[in-house]
Amino acid sequence: MPDLSKLPSVDQLLQNPKLKDVIHSFGRPLSLKALRDVLDNCRYEAIQHKQPIPEQPEIIRRTKNLLNEWLSPTLTPVINATGVILHTNLGRAPLSLETRAAISGISAGYNNLEFDLQTGKRGKRSIHASRLLSTLTGAEGGFVVNNNAGAVLLILSALAKEKNVLISRTQLVEIGGGFRIPDVMRQSGANLFEIGTTNRVHLYDYENALKNEDIALVLIAHHSNFKLIGFHSEPELPEIVETAHKYGVPVVHDLGSGALLDTANYGLAHEPTVFESMDAGCDLVSFSGDKLMGGPQAGIIIGKESLLKSIRVHPLARALRPDKVTLAGITATITHYLKNEAESKIPVWFMISRPIESIEERANNWREYLGEGKVLEGRSTVGGGSLPTEEMPSFLLALSPKKPDAFLKILRQANPPIIARIENERVLFDPRTVLPDQEAAFLRQLLIALEEEES
Ligand SMILES: *Cc1c(COP(=O)(O)O)cnc(C)c1O
Repeated sequence: MPDLSKLPSVDQLLQNPKLKDVIHSFGRPLSLKALRDVLDNCRYEAIQHKQPIPEQPEIIRRTKNLLNEWLSPTLTPVINATGVILHTNLGRAPLSLETRAAISGISAGYNNLEFDLQTGKRGKRSIHASRLLSTLTGAEGGFVVNNNAGAVLLILSALAKEKNVLISRTQLVEIGGGFRIPDVMRQSGANLFEIGTTNRVHLYDYENALKNEDIALVLIAHHSNFKLIGFHSEPELPEIVETAHKYGVPVVHDLGSGALLDTANYGLAHEPTVFESMDAGCDLVSFSGDKLMGGPQAGIIIGKESLLKSIRVHPLARALRPDKVTLAGITATITHYLKNEAESKIPVWFMISRPIESIEERANNWREYLGEGKVLEGRSTVGGGSLPTEEMPSFLLALSPKKPDAFLKILRQANPPIIARIENERVLFDPRTVLPDQEAAFLRQLLIALEEEES
């Protein structure tokens, strides 16, 4: 058994200038905690596995490694080479330069979040996005919460607790990540009044229920990442709204993605837009800030002031309220739409609108730089609970490493990590979703990974 008395004490180690450097970098309490962990481990290894007692430099090296491990953030930027633009697992929408600047500017110091600069009195946080949302959409008002799941929960809690909410069975969907329309409805305390069948609902289903039952609200939920094909039908939105209004019942549209530009202009299927819901006469419309709108995570509610009034004062509104960072980011993103510059400034739309020639050129440049691989025709997708089964033509760089899975793992451990996909034993990289300012790091890391894989 190794001689445990050879193990240096904490006091002895504290005299070592190398440990003093560590303490200077990491602070004394945490450094000592790590040092004690390392010493305990040395003792254990010596007794259990007859390992020799390490020298001081080795103990200090291990301490530093442990500290680096403890402090390395789990949340870190990655390079998305998957071609899925709104990748929920990869943080959805990347933000525009102006949005990031607004966030950084507002988070650095104090601000008038709840302070009226005109009167010098207490102000309302809800005004910051409301006016811009009205200007953009023509709605009477707007209200921002933390995310769209929260928006739907808040709307139903404020307007339909213990009341009947009419919903078609074609829309009792699970969006993913545990968001199920019926569960959220129940959670709000609303009673689901279901009409239609899984595949079909008719205007008379709405009409019958509205005429004969005590209905507080009609909820229409966008199918999002789910598509009904074959023998399927739902009435048009304006027809439903007209019918509901005939009986004095408000209509809430959970739009999900919240497109403010028309995806059909980019060779994609049409994704319902916020403007169409407003034109159809919906009383409230809710959507995410970080799906097709392309901003930070948020839930956005727009519509009639008479309904927004009850929503703003509901206790859940306080629990779901956005912080100054979100509000700064959302307003900066909305500004791009108002200035008609969304396509060039908002990364999500920049990627969607990228000309195919420029994607092909980038893929070719990549291959040239790496000196290997093939450029293939391929497909990118929008993702983010919009446009299921829709794809955009793209050009991909395909590499053929000996072990594709192992290569993908090497890429995930790169700094920054690169996320790619495998198809037919080939590793594919889609230039569409690799952000321009990540390109240099992407190629550098890819080159290192290729060398590693060959060795
Ligand atoms: C994505 C989605 C939600 C949830 O939105 P989050 O912003 O992710 O909370 C709710 N409803 C629909 C229809 C959606 O597509």
